[in-house]
Amino acid sequence: MRRERCGELGLGAVGKRVTLAGWVQAVRDFGSLTFVDLRDSSGLVQLVFRGMPEARELGREDVIRVSGTVVRRENPNPHLPTGEVEVAVEHLEILAKSKPLPFLPDEDVKASEETRLRYRFLDLRRPRMQRNLRLRHKVCLAIRQYLDAQGFIEVETPMLTRSTPEGARDFLVPSRLEPGKFYALPQSPQLFKQILVCSGVERYFQIVRCFRDEDLRADRQPEFTQLDLEMAFLEDPEELFSLLEGLVAHVFRETLGIAIETPFPRIPYAEAMARYGSDKPDLRFGLEIVDLSELFAHAGFQVFESALREGGVVRGLPVPGGAELSRGELGKLEEAARKAGLGGLLWVKVGEGLQSPLSKHVPGGVLEKAAAQAGLGKGDLLLLAAGPQKTVAQALGELRLRLARERGLIPKGRWAFAWIVDFPLFKLSEEGRVESEHHPFTSPRDEDLPFLETDPLRVRAKCYDLVLNGVELASGSIRIHRRELQERVFKILGIGPEEAERRFGFFLRALEYGAPPHGGIAFGLDRWVMMLAGENSIREVIAFPKTATGACPLTGAPAEVDESQLRELHIKVDLE
Ligand code: ASP
Repeated sequence: MRRERCGELGLGAVGKRVTLAGWVQAVRDFGSLTFVDLRDSSGLVQLVFRGMPEARELGREDVIRVSGTVVRRENPNPHLPTGEVEVAVEHLEILAKSKPLPFLPDEDVKASEETRLRYRFLDLRRPRMQRNLRLRHKVCLAIRQYLDAQGFIEVETPMLTRSTPEGARDFLVPSRLEPGKFYALPQSPQLFKQILVCSGVERYFQIVRCFRDEDLRADRQPEFTQLDLEMAFLEDPEELFSLLEGLVAHVFRETLGIAIETPFPRIPYAEAMARYGSDKPDLRFGLEIVDLSELFAHAGFQVFESALREGGVVRGLPVPGGAELSRGELGKLEEAARKAGLGGLLWVKVGEGLQSPLSKHVPGGVLEKAAAQAGLGKGDLLLLAAGPQKTVAQALGELRLRLARERGLIPKGRWAFAWIVDFPLFKLSEEGRVESEHHPFTSPRDEDLPFLETDPLRVRAKCYDLVLNGVELASGSIRIHRRELQERVFKILGIGPEEAERRFGFFLRALEYGAPPHGGIAFGLDRWVMMLAGENSIREVIAFPKTATGACPLTGAPAEVDESQLRELHIKVDLE
């Protein structure tokens, strides 16, 4: 239907007869002369119609085909790659008219997200969305190239399967052939990839959809895409780290043309929590938390001392240039600290001398020492907090992020990666139950095995996360490859032998017939592409995403189904 593409025409084509097809981006009518911007996926070019009144009837998003001659433009448009030429049209064919538009699919789209999703076919016509889709494609291509060269093969795993315990609720699919029974959509291919490794697939990967029925948050979707990966004969995570650093560098090079520095720093979980108050620290900026427990242990300030006596900590967050913060602004920070569970927030300002509400409560020299330990200079501020270790870490971690954002301390264009290692194997749920920090198939560290039953919360895992700019990009572990150890871990999680057999028997059996040591990881692909695209929401890099309530405004899913379909499935809906 077309011989040339709009965005590719330039001075080299002047004099050439061309045939183009695309969407009408804009119409400028001057009576006997009509200008039309024509758009296809390669870009825009100006068409000029002389003495062709039918061109005046064209409207935005009509689909047309034209033939004509490329000519040099009298008034070049320096903002348009094809701005030095236009096409003098000799023949116009209208292929499809567009109804009046619910919104203009322009770069600065004005419509609500709901409307954009409902008319996604219009929204996706925006160059920015086209760019995002293309980028996503390029990322997947680069991943496949790199992993293929490293000997990985992509293997598909079932969508209709049994529950995988990744900590979320399952989406269930009723079986018609076995009434009363259900498939679960996979929360991840975790067990299949481990079984593949046991099946002799030594290097597996898959770009795969996962399903988790969770309350949705800004960067979550009920279905999302992972780059899932597993390797046999992997004992030392370092081997995987360097392979994946190569992958990440390859993807950045191929898609953005950026050279990423490797290796990435390795930071133990406990250190990340202490220094940054987060297990996914944003390392684009400093603002490192300092421990001041020792300094305040005998300084005579009762609030701090009693926190320490109860096993807590005293920590400080230095804020460069923060001495300028007003009482009101400090009050807002304190309010945030209280919301995060702290009893309060104290501060020290460095001006000509030190200024602090604490001055009259501690002997001279103590605050000077605190300021020195935190590396404070003139004009800086130190925020002080005391309480249980976890609460203090998290609260100061939140303040660290907030202050960096508010004070413009986050440099642009920086990609700060880190491996977070040595996570605990278990955590306590809100109800006080022992739960997996990662998932139940993660191997404990060998040296911590003796406390597995006696002090499970002390056991560290062979588990790692890859963090980028404060976002968890990937998470994985070395797995348990012996049935006996797997059963011990199940038992601590409250899964007895019968339940283990019923839910995971198929997997446990695979561990009994020569299972190689193995490990792997999964990347959140949507998030990764979102960051590469410079977007703030993963919905901008998913062709057909769901809203925050899990609905699809385009198709109207989820929706009621016919009574006859329910009958076939032996399902009765009870909305009481
Ligand atoms: N299956 C894990 C997850 O989805 C990733 C892994 O351990 O490889 O988080």
